[in-house]
Parts: sequence; structure tokens; C-alpha cells
Amino acid sequence: MQALVLEEKGVLSLREIDLPLVVGPGDVRIAIHTVGVCGSDVHYYTHGAIGPYVLREPMVLGHEAAGTIVEVGSEVKHLKVGDRVCMEPGVPNLSSRASKLGLYNVDPDVRFWATPPIHGVLTPEVVHPAAFTYRLPDNVTFAEGAMVEPFAIGMQAATRARIQPGDVAAVVGAGPIGILVALAALAGGCARVFISDLSAEKLKIAGQYPGIVPVDITKRPFAEVIAEETGSWGADVVFEASGSPRAFDGIFDMVRPGGALVLVGLPVRKVEFDVAGAISREVRIETVFRYANIFDRALELIASGKVDLKPLITGTFDFKQSIEAFERAAAGSPSDVKLQIRLVE
Ligand code: ZN
Repeated sequence: MQALVLEEKGVLSLREIDLPLVVGPGDVRIAIHTVGVCGSDVHYYTHGAIGPYVLREPMVLGHEAAGTIVEVGSEVKHLKVGDRVCMEPGVPNLSSRASKLGLYNVDPDVRFWATPPIHGVLTPEVVHPAAFTYRLPDNVTFAEGAMVEPFAIGMQAATRARIQPGDVAAVVGAGPIGILVALAALAGGCARVFISDLSAEKLKIAGQYPGIVPVDITKRPFAEVIAEETGSWGADVVFEASGSPRAFDGIFDMVRPGGALVLVGLPVRKVEFDVAGAISREVRIETVFRYANIFDRALELIASGKVDLKPLITGTFDFKQSIEAFERAAAGSPSDVKLQIRLVE
């Protein structure tokens, strides 16, 4: 089968590869339609590793996917051939201690697409457990279906934040995840969501959504804007979505007393933390690693029209142009949010 293979750091090829397609009783076989290019895919391409996950042999990329069911296992009840679906890329061990706690995202044995040594899904067909495969409502496109995975991270962040109706949130960083966090926070009941970045283009994309207020930090510090807008009280929730170690300088000044700081961005190195600043306000600190039990709710929001992810898809490539898509993503144009690859005409 053809696949987009990361041979080694910096070397991609579109070539034949042998991938098993054995459908077990609880599995479905899916013809892949659309796959989003994720920052993590690009990072493996440019760096060959993310933290402890190191590419040691060729690996198929891609984990944000939607497609059509072409075969179902004998015990599958909720899906049938022809269903349009999206998939959770991580398959935990369901009898693990983490899974039993409902925290299957932090199961140490999780097998996650395009995380070495597990192959991803930039290939025409995959086999996946039906339990982690979700039917797309009729009004949700394949392109939107492939956006559910990154949106689920925003939804997990909003869920961890325990937002209350009318809350004010601040999101540090207007990259794809920052924007998706902001949209999830709005959908979760925030009245206003401020979002900061250095890039005017990224802020323009975020600011097209009513309720999201872009803040250009080349002009004014984010903390100053939040103080002014909240009468010096602070935001109910601050989401750190940039992963920039510098973002932690004075971050607790933006959180209201008793508010929450939700850490989403993965810093590339250790960061210093103002523990006294957090304690003096009794800030609740939450962390987000992927998501658990989110896909159904993400699909509900998209199907209801409350969250429109379509404006975030800024480029679509044919499967044949996959390498081009990755080169463009690696070049990192500030006007791009999400690039997608379409495997079906
Ligand atoms: Zn992703």
C-alpha cells in the first residue's frame, strides 16, 4: 500500500509499504479520506524525535483522520459499512489501571498513531478498534471530521478548566491549538476569551470569531490588557498554549484569586515557575495531555454549528502532494492554521 513514510529525520517518501490490515472481531477497516498535518508530525519530520519518542525506523505519519468504513468485525454493533467516521488516534489498554480510572489518555501502554514505533494513517486504509471510531453526523464533512482530533485537545483543556457561564479566559498563543482552546472555552460558557500572540496574521484568524479578542503582545503586555479588561481582578482561567518558556514570566499575575491555570503547550525545556505567585492567589493548576472521553462532545458542538472549524483549514493537498504539504507546514507560514491531505478525490 502507498503511504507517506518518514524514513529518517528530514527525509519523507511516498512509497509502498507493507501494513497489516487484519480485522479483528472488535475492529473496523476504514478507507481514509482526509488527514490533517499536525505540529507533532512536522516535528518528527524536522527533528526526528519528540521528548522520549525517537524515530528509529521508517514510520508512516498522520494521526488526525476521517474516512469511510469498508469492513466491520463480527462483534461491532454501532458502526456499519459506508459510515463516515473519525478516529481517536490513541488506543489504550482498556484493562489498564489508567483506563479503569477513566484516564486512558495517560495509560503508559497507549499505542498512538504516528508516535514511534506506531505507524500513522497517511495511507489509503487502516484497521482500528470500533470503540475509538466515531460516526460523523451527516452535516459534518470529512475535513471537519479530521479536525476533531486537534479540537479535542482544546475541549480537554476547557473541561479541565471547569469553566462557569460568563467566565473570562485568557489564552497565551494563537497557534492552531491556542485557537482551538479559545473556541472550546467559548463553547464551554466563557463570555470573552482574550488570545495573545506576536503574529498579527495569527491574531487576525483568531479574531474573526465573535467573543475571541486578539491581543498583539508586540504592542502591549498581555497581563496589562487582562488587568485593564477585568478591573485588575484577573482572568478566571488562563490557558498556556504557546509552550514558550518565556510565557511563564508573570503568568500568575493574569489569573484571578482562586482561578485556574491550564497548561496545554509543551515547553521544549524546563521552565521556571513562580510558586509563591501561584500560592498567594491559590491558583488551581491543571495539565492537559491529549484527551479522554471528548470526541462525542466535540462532534456534537461541530454538528450543532456552535463551533465552526472550517475557517481554520487554510490549505488542502492531494495525497500525491503530501511531501509538499509537509514542506509548507515545516516552513511555518503565519497565515496557515491547519493543512490537510485528501486521499480520496
Ligand atoms: Zn495532532
